[in-house]
Amino acid sequence: MKYIEPHAHMVSRVTDDYQRMALAGCEAICEPAFWAGFDRSSPAGFHDYFCQLTEHEPKRAAKFGIAHFCWLCINPKESEDVNLAGDVIALIPQFLDRPNVLGIGEIGLNKNSRNEVKVLEMHVDLAARFDQLILVHTPHLEDKLKGTRLILDVLKSDRRIKPERVIVDHVEEHTVKAVLDRGHWAGMTLYPETKCTPARAIDILENFGNEQLWMNSACDWGVSDPLAVPKTALEMKRRGHRAAAIEQLIFRNPKKFLSQSPNFKLPAA
Ligand SMILES: [Zn+2]
Repeated sequence: MKYIEPHAHMVSRVTDDYQRMALAGCEAICEPAFWAGFDRSSPAGFHDYFCQLTEHEPKRAAKFGIAHFCWLCINPKESEDVNLAGDVIALIPQFLDRPNVLGIGEIGLNKNSRNEVKVLEMHVDLAARFDQLILVHTPHLEDKLKGTRLILDVLKSDRRIKPERVIVDHVEEHTVKAVLDRGHWAGMTLYPETKCTPARAIDILENFGNEQLWMNSACDWGVSDPLAVPKTALEMKRRGHRAAAIEQLIFRNPKKFLSQSPNFKLPAA
């Protein structure tokens, strides 16, 4: 089956994963900037990471016929130091012209702290000034609902931001409606243990419909499954969803949202 993986951290995956994803029908992978599992000690560490995302990783993906795109930011987990965040954000504009950059992400909140909110506002301002799409990470802690509300308010208070150019990721049953009601897109993350399981994701779909939703694996260095999207598509088929509805969710929806960036181009058919 043809699909797009809209959220995967391939820098922490082995090359065999690219091969398996290609065999499963993956046409494109989008990689948001994230926490490496340790805090970087300087802006130079982020500079090198942005080079990895824009130069090295697309070449790895291309060996398997997969298009690779990325999002840039300093992630919420490293956003407590506002001065460091300011220095990293100042580096980003020089990368925005690179051909695989889709926008600013994954930005958002981790512990919902005051400094994290400040850095989120700085990123939203950056996206507005450079007319970039936004990909938002919502916190995984028990205060996901509070974090999601805080994020939605920051987005709404910047009048330059068009809601349909923002995807809010890692939604769950109790946050998806608020996101969609604001006119944003919503992403469901399929994790084997935490976040949405495939069954929960399909329950959400059956309740909230197929519009402005996508699914991703968010595979990274933790317990996660790079094939979570095609596996969930199989589960949808088993539960009686029509082929066209499955294709909309795993291919046409991400394509529609991401095509708002002029850099998003799929490999020639
Ligand atoms: Zn992520």
